[in-house]
Amino acid sequence: MALTFVELQRSCVGTEAEVPVLGGRRRYVNFDNAATTPALRQVRDTVDAFLEHYSSVHRGTGYKSLLSTEVFEHCRQRILDFVRASRASETVIFGKNTTEMANKLSRRFGLARDDVVLISDAEHHSNDLPWRKVARVVRLPVDHRGAMDLSRIEDELKKGRGRVKVVAVCGASNVTGYQPPIHDIAALAHRHGAKIFADCAQLAPHRAIDVRPPGDPRHLDFVAFSAHKMYAPYGVGVLVGPKSFFDVGDPDHVGGGMVEMVTPDRAYWSPSPDRDEPGTPNLLGAVALARAIACLEEVGFDAIAEHERQLTTYALKRLREVPGLALYGDVEPQAGEDRIGVIPFNLHGLNHALLAAALAWEGGIGVRHGCFCAHPFIAHLLKVSERDAEQMIDRILASDRSAVAGRVRMSFGIFNTEAEVDWVIEVLQGLATRGPKGNYRFDPAWGEYRAEGYEAVVDPLLGI
Ligand code: PMP
Repeated sequence: MALTFVELQRSCVGTEAEVPVLGGRRRYVNFDNAATTPALRQVRDTVDAFLEHYSSVHRGTGYKSLLSTEVFEHCRQRILDFVRASRASETVIFGKNTTEMANKLSRRFGLARDDVVLISDAEHHSNDLPWRKVARVVRLPVDHRGAMDLSRIEDELKKGRGRVKVVAVCGASNVTGYQPPIHDIAALAHRHGAKIFADCAQLAPHRAIDVRPPGDPRHLDFVAFSAHKMYAPYGVGVLVGPKSFFDVGDPDHVGGGMVEMVTPDRAYWSPSPDRDEPGTPNLLGAVALARAIACLEEVGFDAIAEHERQLTTYALKRLREVPGLALYGDVEPQAGEDRIGVIPFNLHGLNHALLAAALAWEGGIGVRHGCFCAHPFIAHLLKVSERDAEQMIDRILASDRSAVAGRVRMSFGIFNTEAEVDWVIEVLQGLATRGPKGNYRFDPAWGEYRAEGYEAVVDPLLGI
């Protein structure tokens, strides 16, 4: 019997866990899934079971090593299938997360300093800073959702006359949930001789990805995502791209396991994917990701997307009932545009850091606040002037984060429910009308409010 959506929801580990709140304990409501998701029970059980057979990969000759190598390579194939990439011409590079994968890709391109990488102004720092280190980054303006004007992309591609080598955009925004039309952007990039990198850290847990065949103008050349956002938090991230690209060129990291032969003064690099995987790979992470993918596929992304659409529509409707609550991004989900379940907001009169702390300590609700590793986008959305930005930087560099602009973000996973949304609305309504109940102390260096008398305690039962 195929796994049902409800069974998958119930498989999320720790969703019944209680946490301390002011004056007691409550079941934790986790609305911070865009940062990281809980594990699936199936993922945990598979990793536990496989540990009986876990051993070294590549070149070990014992049965467990042979099996471990087979399992590792099988996971690679599963990931190719997951994004509908060709097993013949594409490969998967395992690393630790999307950030590492974007850094790798940026260095593996062998770009010249005056080559251009086009990014949107809404990119996560992980799809911005790596490119700045190797080339000239041209940022394209975005609207309140994080959407670029496609004609601007084409203008820049034309203006670059072949100097634009890469267009790097996210598959979905971690700030607003907006999904850029990555295949249309790919077609534009290809028309002008550029490649596309889709940062799918946010898209992969929510929607099916289809990189399309390499000959298709709408093909995605490179895609990266992280397992810890996909119910498999065992420390793995992946980069998918053409074998021919990774077979050649200078590897960014070097060491054992990625060479054909080393002499005292030369090294002969292996072809892909080994060339980009020096050292011992994260086999358990690969197993975890492949198992999570199997579960998500069994239930189907249609069911996942439908649940998320309903929940997002419901939350957007209910959030408007909270007096003084400002919603950002596309606040009309029925308008037809697909978006993932990420909702940013602020509450009038309450600093975003204090609001997030009050949600945690008065409602047991986990959210995130600040700029979500997308400072330029948040500054644009909050209309922070250049002068204010400069003053803010001076204060931050002097360890004072009290003036940092930001928002609160709630983001949904497969296990979240309307009842949980109702609870967050109830807590927000209390905060909007009465303010926080607890005493909170601001820590200027961290930019966080702490509930006085409360802290997170490491359970001695962990044995660490
Ligand atoms: N890109 C986007 C859009 C993200 O949301 C994130 C994670 N917040 C990343 C990249 C980086 O992912 P990771 O932290 O797993 O490297």
